[in-house]
Amino acid sequence: MSADSCIFCDIVAGKIPCHKVYEDDRTMAFMDVNPLAPGHTLVIPKSHYTTLLELTPGDMAAVHQTSQKIAAAIISALKVPGLAVLQLNGKGANQVVMHYHVHLIPRNRPKDKLKLLEWSPKKGNTRSIKSKAEKIREAL
Ligand SMILES: [Zn+2]
Repeated sequence: MSADSCIFCDIVAGKIPCHKVYEDDRTMAFMDVNPLAPGHTLVIPKSHYTTLLELTPGDMAAVHQTSQKIAAAIISALKVPGLAVLQLNGKGANQVVMHYHVHLIPRNRPKDKLKLLEWSPKKGNTRSIKSKAEKIREAL
């Protein structure tokens, strides 16, 4: 898939709205609209790469530095006992959007009963997503 028809590139360009929690020169973090758990956040490089295999060292470092920052904010803002970092490469791994992204997924196992490697996206509650984004931004 090219950057011309990429939903995350459209989000970076401001053509599609998102619940943004963070942005810098190279990266952006925003809420997943199909959250697996409350507070599920995505971190992406602003440049288009499909998978880990294409990512430049500079953008790889930038995405993971942002992931660390946002993970700390999620844990502090939402008071969750754990957080999973998940990154999928290719359709065979259930990658849905073909623009490199890191999932930050608050966890509270076994209570949350999450199956992290096999799931079908389900639209989340917009009000809840918006309020989690506000809390995470405040914790940054
Ligand atoms: Zn893209």
